[in-house]
Amino acid sequence: MSMKLVIVGGVAGGATAAARARRLDENATIVMFERGREVSFANCGLPYYIGGQIRRRSHLLVQTEAGLEERFALDVRTRTEVTAIDRAARQVRVRELDSGRQYTEDYDYLLLAPGAKPVIPPIPGSDHPAVFTLRNLTDSDRIKQAVDGGASSALVVGGGFIGLEMVENLRRRGLEVALVELLPQVMPPLDIEVAARLHRQLREQGVKLYLSDGVTALQDRQGRVLASLQSGTALEVDLVILAVGVRPDTALAAEAGLELSERGAIVVDEYLRTSDPRIYAVGDAIQTNDLVLSTPTNVPLAGPANRQARVAVDNISGRRTRYPGVLGTSVLRLFDLTVALTGASEKTLRRRSIPFHKVYVHRGHHAAYFPGAQQMMIKLLFAPPDGRLLGAQIVGGEGVDKRIDVLATALRAGLTVRDLQELELAYAPQFGSAKDPINIAGYVAGNLLSGDEEFVYAEELNGASPDEWAILDVREPEEFAAGHIPGALHIPLGELRQRWQEIPRDRKLAVYCTVGQRAYYATRILRHRGLRPRNIAGGLTTYNLYQVESGRRCAGPLELSAAEDAGRGGQSSYSMSMCQPPQPG
Ligand code: FAD
Repeated sequence: MSMKLVIVGGVAGGATAAARARRLDENATIVMFERGREVSFANCGLPYYIGGQIRRRSHLLVQTEAGLEERFALDVRTRTEVTAIDRAARQVRVRELDSGRQYTEDYDYLLLAPGAKPVIPPIPGSDHPAVFTLRNLTDSDRIKQAVDGGASSALVVGGGFIGLEMVENLRRRGLEVALVELLPQVMPPLDIEVAARLHRQLREQGVKLYLSDGVTALQDRQGRVLASLQSGTALEVDLVILAVGVRPDTALAAEAGLELSERGAIVVDEYLRTSDPRIYAVGDAIQTNDLVLSTPTNVPLAGPANRQARVAVDNISGRRTRYPGVLGTSVLRLFDLTVALTGASEKTLRRRSIPFHKVYVHRGHHAAYFPGAQQMMIKLLFAPPDGRLLGAQIVGGEGVDKRIDVLATALRAGLTVRDLQELELAYAPQFGSAKDPINIAGYVAGNLLSGDEEFVYAEELNGASPDEWAILDVREPEEFAAGHIPGALHIPLGELRQRWQEIPRDRKLAVYCTVGQRAYYATRILRHRGLRPRNIAGGLTTYNLYQVESGRRCAGPLELSAAEDAGRGGQSSYSMSMCQPPQPG
């Protein structure tokens, strides 16, 4: 007798599972229920459909109901909601949303892929018709209609992935956009100095940014919305996007008595089996394992949902496949900036008291001598004493996606920073450098582990007394003149061998240049003369990112030229763009 698989949810996890199940078993009966009108659509493309970059709605439909039925011989039932699970009888109860008809369906195995739903914060007025959330095609149709209908201003509440993607796309459509975020930074998984780069980008793109602020009320103003913020600011806009996060959509699982986590995610074992051995679960709805921290986590991303679907169906079909867990590898474009991360952040490591080291590297995405190199900052987190990777964050332009994928692969393989030095990565001048930024990050981290280089971090210097720290700037005079850390002694690298005795010996010594490379050379010169200097990690560029966030003035230009980036110390072609103030606007 053939196996009967019933699937709840027909988008990322559900549709992938259904197609895999057919590939593994030509005789299985596969019934897939989807509450919405469409199956297998690209949630991740929705903001870009609203923004106009994806021109046709049909392009978002990866597969249609008819297409799935024809190619995979599936029984797909859209606009049909599964309302209850009778585990003892191995039946689900379903309701056709258009006709109201109810019936039951038997299963041998049940796979839950119900996804997540947007959190609606308890703000009075959030049911106003011009207040939207974004999860599915219907939501994007409604938002697009409002924008097409002439909306000229928008408020986005929440600075996570979806919030930022909506900010970009609404700006692309010409709207005035304000972004309110309760935390002091956007993109909470990032560390603050990396998020600082996004803050600057948002302000440069004309987005009004309200950090550490929240919406307290939304009121109607003749069809428009008046948003009141905690800070007392009032914003009148044509539409509001609520993007404050998602929550596993697991009421069905809860009512069926399946084990849930505190956050309401479905608890599964390493084979993605729930507390009922006949029921498997995948995607945004489940709790899985954090591969770095070995702790339970819920990561609502498309990649994990797709891979989990394959694993769950393997196990349902009698194969034994483990799902090891997630790294949370993700990438976001914000106008012409790309930010990406994998593994643990510094703040998570601190919160969990996990020992770590960190280094920063600023490099061009390809050789500086080839036109168009774009700078990126890599932050690498690794464990003492062996340098095993713990996490990475990268922000920059082109090439960020490639480097984060290399680091995610390295992290998954359990590599150390010394292994990064050895990675043989593709190089031609258009694509990389003979020493790729990943190799360089490995060298810098290796220097730290071997003791060849010691670092001091911007946060350690914030508010430090000049009696405790002497600060040495080894850049060229015109760079120093353009801005420097207050009180810094200036000896250009080229003069250091002659003038090193001017350096005070009665205090700790911090040395800096723009990105840390010339300062490294300087610290080596000084070490050979018996001093114990520390390099300001990431140079003035990282230092300044901290200053912006802590409301201090920058100590110099925030941008550097490709020549400087390539480590040709002493070049002075600096862009003069200064830090942006940390206030809204
Ligand atoms: P979904 O794909 O959401 O599918 C769940 C489906 O189950 C829903 O259609 C729902 O209607 C249906 N359902 C729920 N309960 C029932 C029921 N009782 N009966 C019948 N049907 C039911 N991830 C990335 O990795 N990168 C991105 O760039 C990215 N961008 C995104 C942008 C947006 C705007 C959104 C909303 C999400 C984005 N994501 C992104 C997240 C990604 O889309 C999800 O992680 C992924 O879709 C999760 O798959 P899933 O199968 O768990 O849930």
